[in-house]
Amino acid sequence: MSSTTEPAQGRCGYVAIVGRPNVGKSTLLNHILGQKISITSRKPQTTRNNVVGIKTEGDVQIMFVDTPGMHLGQQKAINRYMNRAASTAVKDVDVVVFVVDRFIWTEEDEAVAEKLQHVSCPIILAVNKVDQIDDKETLLPHLEQLSQKLHAAEIVPLSALRNMNLDRLEQLIIARLPEGLHMYPEDQITDRSSRFMAAEIVREKITRQLGDELPYEMAVEIEEFKQEGAMLHISALILVERDGQKRILIGDKGERIKLIGTQARVDMEKLFELKIMLKLWVKVKSGWSDDERALRSLGYNDF
Ligand code: GDP
Ligand code: MG
Repeated sequence: MSSTTEPAQGRCGYVAIVGRPNVGKSTLLNHILGQKISITSRKPQTTRNNVVGIKTEGDVQIMFVDTPGMHLGQQKAINRYMNRAASTAVKDVDVVVFVVDRFIWTEEDEAVAEKLQHVSCPIILAVNKVDQIDDKETLLPHLEQLSQKLHAAEIVPLSALRNMNLDRLEQLIIARLPEGLHMYPEDQITDRSSRFMAAEIVREKITRQLGDELPYEMAVEIEEFKQEGAMLHISALILVERDGQKRILIGDKGERIKLIGTQARVDMEKLFELKIMLKLWVKVKSGWSDDERALRSLGYNDF
């Protein structure tokens, strides 16, 4: 029997995940997508670029923008770039998810909240890491306080890491997306290039290995990305600021850079589903993080 009613139209739109560093934005994105798109770390400032993750389910498609943290009072070009990227990301989206770490409210959270005052789309406040709250009784009064402070459309307590209440967040997002057809093929999970993803993987392994030792004065540039048969050849150039950093990165008898390479290769083989031949080079390029032109030459020019 045929029906005369029009099929219900799907929904499709952009969602920005914002919040100060370390509240769990990348973790949230990865867990919603069920796949690793954005790198995470205990150290703040791991995410440098906006990464779009795409989630398609039936006739609903959500494009996520994972913004770099919004940083306060930092002068270097790399930080100015990151602030611009974060502010640009919230302009053209349909929903903003503002992530906070339980009820910790710092001046960085306050600064993010201020930037969001000029946003016209609905804001959903995601109170993350509730798995770390022992006394659940304290939850409600705090939620009420937060809701008064911000003009959030909804407040959702959740745990990105433990997959708690993520369904609820998704429902609230979807309800606020415009109607529309898919913009990307169903199986596409990011619109970032393979080169970009390869560079992100190398950067993540370095950050995991070195954390405190090597500050965020490091960039990864993919120089070669070439498939030959079932083998993908990737060469990555790691740029650091000083000789000392190069020495730390290479490690005793090259052991550290070897480990970084091995770990990166394993992740790349999973992601690209090919055998990977990975070469890593380390080069000192003094002052790059404070040089707008150098930044552009490294690809930080999306905005
Ligand atoms: P981002 O800087 O906002 O992108 O934060 P990340 O996603 O990199 O997470 C920062 C740290 O918080 C990492 O060590 C995560 O494992 C941790 N984290 C994220 N979500 C949760 C959560 O729901 N519960 C707990 N206990 N830790 C979390
Ligand atoms: Mg992040």
